Amino acid sequence: MLRLYNTLSRKIENFIPLNPPKVGMYACGPTVYDYTHIGHLRKYIGDDILRRVLEMDEYEVKHVMNITDVGHLVSDEDSGEDKMEKGARESGRTVWEVAKFYEDYFWKSTEAVNIERPSVVAKATDHIKEQIKLIQRLEKNGFIYQTPEAIYFDISKFPDYTKLSGQRLEEKQIGARAEVVVDKQKKNPQDFALWFFTVGHFADHSMKWSSPWGEGFPGWHIECSAMSMEYLGDSLDIHTGGIDHIPVHHTNEIAQSEGASGKTFVRFWVHHNFLQVDGEKMSKSKKNFYRIEEIIDKGFEPLALRYLFLTAHYRDKINFTWQSLQAAQNALNNLREEIRAWEQPKEVIDQFWQKFVEAANSDLNIPQAVGQLWEMIHASYPTASKSATILKMDKILGLGLDQYIGKQIEIPEEVMKLVEKREESRKKGNFEQSDKLRKEIKKLGYEVEDTPQGSHIKT
Ligand code: AMP
Ligand code: ZN
Repeated sequence: MLRLYNTLSRKIENFIPLNPPKVGMYACGPTVYDYTHIGHLRKYIGDDILRRVLEMDEYEVKHVMNITDVGHLVSDEDSGEDKMEKGARESGRTVWEVAKFYEDYFWKSTEAVNIERPSVVAKATDHIKEQIKLIQRLEKNGFIYQTPEAIYFDISKFPDYTKLSGQRLEEKQIGARAEVVVDKQKKNPQDFALWFFTVGHFADHSMKWSSPWGEGFPGWHIECSAMSMEYLGDSLDIHTGGIDHIPVHHTNEIAQSEGASGKTFVRFWVHHNFLQVDGEKMSKSKKNFYRIEEIIDKGFEPLALRYLFLTAHYRDKINFTWQSLQAAQNALNNLREEIRAWEQPKEVIDQFWQKFVEAANSDLNIPQAVGQLWEMIHASYPTASKSATILKMDKILGLGLDQYIGKQIEIPEEVMKLVEKREESRKKGNFEQSDKLRKEIKKLGYEVEDTPQGSHIKT
């Protein structure tokens, strides 16, 4: 049985879905105003692993993810402009062009690291009706009020508003996600906007819709509540996000959704820790981020990044360094080298498969599961059984290993001749010549290793 840490209870609990074998899982998606970086990818790989582990446990997962293309404001210091509108103004493109460009970039980046697409992808701008309907439910239940600038959720009406973060109300950071435009007529500083009117500094907002309260656009939080409930019902099994979402975005989602339905919104809250650089979160604002192209330009494979992320637990921070990426790339290369010589899959080795499942089910202990994979590689079993087992493991890890099992590299004649020449030089003790030949071989994309059995060639 899957055991999963629940941010709400602060405990590891047995995971039992509401309607097995179905599992409803909602993942906060990207705000498409800028490039996806590898910090984002850590969180989406985390979601991908969770989904694959649920499927390993034979659940039917409906994985819903949003695309935020309206309503997400930048920081207070930055005058609270909508991130999309800002992106458009700065690039001279329309907001719709900006959204399309960065959404495409997001998919390209996630595909490069083998992330499966969610079952449902929901854009905020395609769900304005649902968001208005949800605000109406909140209006009926007495949770909202209106100022000339916006419709707000009155947090004083919602009991235990900070239950997810466990913070005291007074210490709850306002504007951690900068969703709050300072409106002097707000009743409580923590009240958050459900609907902004296109007045004042939002008068020129290009994305706007009519609503029962007046023309405007939705706040960022309401989209996730509206779309998750639209596709998964009033109560979801799992909701994921980065740890930064706990005190504001997810806290507000709970208030809105439970305020409207009167039911528990989410049964398991799963939060991924950050990818850091020099002890700080990798983020656009700190300018300490890398994109997937930069990884490729430096000679690494995107899948090496995936391997690197699999070696840390999702609730632990990872400090990104090029050395650690190099170590991950080497490990992945070695793994492929091992399995190239294996026979085609036959029966699974139960002992290793069971231990792998146990690790994955133990609050997604993927580093331990990867450890099991390596233990199996080094154990003496028929390679056909190892092939079968590793293929099952890779359904969860997603490293594309099926392309390497039993696929010996075909070495061009030109390279083979150089290798033979090099072997002769070595036998004669002409190491200078042999080193020169090694370099020539490398230029052609191959590496020679000297083993007791003779030369071994790798790509
Ligand atoms: P954003 O597009 O900034 O709203 O971020 C999308 C998702 O990526 C959120 O769930 C963030 O928590 C997550 N995220 C952003 N930066 C990082 C990082 N450095 N490490 C891990 N997750 C991140
Ligand atoms: Zn969200």
